[in-house]
Amino acid sequence: MSCIISVKDSLYNEGDRYDFEADVSFEPVSYMGAVSFKNAKATGFYFADGKNVRFSGKIDVDCVFECDRCLKEFEKSFTFSFSEMFSHSSEEENLVISRNDTVDIQPLLFDTVLSALPIERLCTEDCKGLCQHCGIDKNFSSCSCTDGDEDNPFAVLRGLVD
Ligand SMILES: [Zn+2]
Ligand SMILES: [Zn+2]
Repeated sequence: MSCIISVKDSLYNEGDRYDFEADVSFEPVSYMGAVSFKNAKATGFYFADGKNVRFSGKIDVDCVFECDRCLKEFEKSFTFSFSEMFSHSSEEENLVISRNDTVDIQPLLFDTVLSALPIERLCTEDCKGLCQHCGIDKNFSSCSCTDGDEDNPFAVLRGLVD
């Protein structure tokens, strides 16, 4: 997938500001857990500074994560900002202006999103998670398992008393 923008006009009109807006789509990734993306939209502007073109803006995206505790899918919206310089001779592949004076901002947008994703992913701050013993979702029901019984030396005795 790509998101191509022609920057030719801006190179002939140094300093002039050009607005851009683009709907983008990203493939799902496995990045500290499965993540998929919806409704990604980038808005911003670019302008030439000498032979370079700077792109600045923000990307709005809805991310679908798996909860770290209960494994349920949940969605969260984010806005991430970016500002990067493109040039014909850039050492970074993602920031090269092509011979036809176009750029592909898709890799830049994707990197922006990936590098800003939260490490902790919880459906709610106080998600109770799954029971370690029987696997029941403790947000919806309760079970009679007691945590840490295996480690409790008195667990055996309890059985004898019963
Ligand atoms: Zn959860
Ligand atoms: Zn249980």
